[in-house]
Amino acid sequence: MKGFAMIAPNQVGWIEKERPTCGPLDAIVRPLAVAPCTSDIHTVYEGALGDRFNMILGHEGVGEVVEVGSLVKDFKPGDRVLVPAITPDWGAVESQAGYSVHSGGMLAGWKFSNFKDGVFGEFFHVNEADANLALLPEGMDLASAVMLADMIPTGFHGVELADVQFGDKVCVIGIGPVGLMAVAGAALRGASDLYAVGSRKICADVAREYGATEIIDYHNGDIAEQVLALTGGKGVDKVVIAGGTSEETFAQAVKMVKAGGRIGNVNYLGSGDVIIPRVEWGCGMGHKTIAGGLMYGGRLRMEKLASLITSGRLDPSKMITHTFHGFEYIEEALMLMKNKPRDLIKPVVIL
Ligand code: NDP
Ligand code: ZN
Repeated sequence: MKGFAMIAPNQVGWIEKERPTCGPLDAIVRPLAVAPCTSDIHTVYEGALGDRFNMILGHEGVGEVVEVGSLVKDFKPGDRVLVPAITPDWGAVESQAGYSVHSGGMLAGWKFSNFKDGVFGEFFHVNEADANLALLPEGMDLASAVMLADMIPTGFHGVELADVQFGDKVCVIGIGPVGLMAVAGAALRGASDLYAVGSRKICADVAREYGATEIIDYHNGDIAEQVLALTGGKGVDKVVIAGGTSEETFAQAVKMVKAGGRIGNVNYLGSGDVIIPRVEWGCGMGHKTIAGGLMYGGRLRMEKLASLITSGRLDPSKMITHTFHGFEYIEEALMLMKNKPRDLIKPVVIL
């Protein structure tokens, strides 16, 4: 079968591979729609995960089941399915401890385009199909459904990590698709003032639609200073980091969050080291919590998040700025994620 792959660090292209085989608990799925992710760019061009060779890329997809293992109970060939980017081993001790995303080792629940071939192939393999797949809800458009693989669960997880509560003042740093879903999630969770940091106008406009009350452009000076100015020097209760740099952004987040506040990071730190400013962190005693996490996957999570779309509470399609039709456009879509033109939020490829 054909797949679009990371051939080596800094090199992508089409390759031929054996079609994956199906274990007793697994499924083989044919993608119906896929999307490239900023994480694919960190993986290929920043060496963030280390060297990978001839690994099919992509972890955001919706598909049709073509084969299931003998022990799979709830799915059959022909079912159209939501596929989370994170597909844990549910029996692992880490899963029993509540951290399924780290089943088998840190970040090991992230298998597609990390430890095994991803969804940019003619077929892909899903482990533990009953636990990791969810049925595509009737009538849901494929482009919105692809946002359930990663953008929605990741942005929402940033909100969970920051523990946004009713009436919190919140700053979301970065309003690419992940940050936009954090804005939407924070609004759903009851944020009051909701500051969103970014500079692409198209992202700022959509951030407002999702509930941002103020847009902060990081080109106009230190964002912590801007947030402090807007809050009368008090800062915000919660910060979600969904963009920016390791060195600069954490320092700003620590500076802008109140004592006792929480910072939830979902940004994939491709390079550099995190710097926590000593004084702004209360000389180590400020009760300013920093939590970072990979999104949660699995069937229940997919079904619950999908219900936000079917109930009309969340419309992820506002983020889709580029729609391609055909497998051959995966490369072009990925290059958009690399180059981030000003009119881009998120591309989708319908197959
Ligand atoms: P984008 O590149 O589309 O968005 C990044 C955002 O950060 C943009 O709004 C950008 O502004 C803003 N930004 C850039 N530089 C700065 C800066 N110096 N200070 C403040 N803001 C800045 O990324 P995505 O939304 O696609 O992804 C966000 C991150 O989430 C990525 O690192 C991705 O790999 C990661 N991710 C993490 C996952 C997880 O499970 N934890 C899963 C999926 C993705 P501008 O408007 O100027 O472009
Ligand atoms: Zn992704």
